[in-house]
Amino acid sequence: MFALLASIVDTIKCSHKRGFISTNMKTLTVIILFTLFACVAQAQRICGSEAYKRQLLQTNPSMQNSFDAVELQIAKATKKFSARDTTLNEVINITVVIHVIYKTAAQNISDAQISSQLTALNNDFANLNADKSKRPGAFTGLAADIKIKFCLAQVDPQGNKTTGIIRKSTTADVFTADDAMKSSLRGGNNPWDNKKYLNIWVCALSGRSLGYATPPGANAAIDGVVIAFDVFGTVGSLRASFNKGRTATHEVGHWMGLKHLWGDTDCGDDGIDDTPRQKTYNFGIPVFPNVTSCSPNANGDMFMNYMDFSDDAAMNMFTNDQKKRMRALFATGNIRNSFLSSFACDSNLAQAGSVPAAATPVAAPVVKINQVKIYPNPVQNNLFVNNKNVSAANPQIIQILNTVGVKVYTGSLTKETSNINLSQLATGIYIVKIGENQSQFTTQFIKL
Ligand SMILES: [Zn+2]
Repeated sequence: MFALLASIVDTIKCSHKRGFISTNMKTLTVIILFTLFACVAQAQRICGSEAYKRQLLQTNPSMQNSFDAVELQIAKATKKFSARDTTLNEVINITVVIHVIYKTAAQNISDAQISSQLTALNNDFANLNADKSKRPGAFTGLAADIKIKFCLAQVDPQGNKTTGIIRKSTTADVFTADDAMKSSLRGGNNPWDNKKYLNIWVCALSGRSLGYATPPGANAAIDGVVIAFDVFGTVGSLRASFNKGRTATHEVGHWMGLKHLWGDTDCGDDGIDDTPRQKTYNFGIPVFPNVTSCSPNANGDMFMNYMDFSDDAAMNMFTNDQKKRMRALFATGNIRNSFLSSFACDSNLAQAGSVPAAATPVAAPVVKINQVKIYPNPVQNNLFVNNKNVSAANPQIIQILNTVGVKVYTGSLTKETSNINLSQLATGIYIVKIGENQSQFTTQFIKL
């Protein structure tokens, strides 16, 4: 009832703002009704994930096999978790890459806005969100800390350091749920390896959709989450009803296998035991208890669950059984298990910089070993390499490896004395190699 009242109030505000005046009452009524519909529609959360999934299956029916296989994985894993809970509480770290696809300056959202979204995601998934105090007592005991953390990637798929944020300008005014934002050839940007990274595209979306996600089991080329730029994060220029980062929380929930509470059918089911059956979606800011003919008891809908359509200000929890379903994807042998071995948030595993274009010399000149000097040794931040034989015309490859042979830096020397910034390297002993094959010069240094 409150939702309805809220929508009417919202409608009145909207029609008032638009200032329709007409002497013809009939026309006025039609306009007001139309405006009512349009304003309610604008104020409501619309998630494109379910329609997107139907569209995927229409164009590629065999994808159903993949989705069914994931359901089987989840069923087996959740059964195991209910018998033994240890794996359930290990923290899972998800490496995230944000693809900002923009045409206007407003769409090119700030690093601060992106960072605020990561904070909101982490708080929501860890049950550390400040507004959890708004939960009705009847549902408080069901709320879960999912034990999943999100971090911006520090290492890209090529091993180079990264901020985890890619900015790409586009000529497209808006994107639709046809996945063009996920393709460099179609005005977007290709995903990074979906076995190691959660790809999130932030762009302008057409229509009323705030975002959509692939269900687990979709093709690698499209796997990830799409969010409209003006509902992403908690700072910046955001739509008032969607300014707490909950669109991303909701969509990442889908990416981890969660469904809408009402199962996208009348009085449907989301396959989760501890969320009550729900007649349909809620929107706006409902008031507890919101009971319908479909409610199993007097507590009514769990409209404060992230998988409903309520406003950001009304959402504040996932449940214990949603936690089991999400975490089941990461169990041994399951579809998102590879994330457990992604170390892409550890910047120590990155090379100190990207490989310059001139990294591969056409012909490697012979290095006279006694003419190479590296200093200081031990070194704190800046290592100098002096080699009289090196010039722009005669570049040399330089590689630095740790003591177990992992390459931590590759670069190109193009002048007699080069300065290499090693501030990102962990302390320890390193091997430096200059040149190639028989002309290679190798020595060691200590990083403090
Ligand atoms: Zn949704």
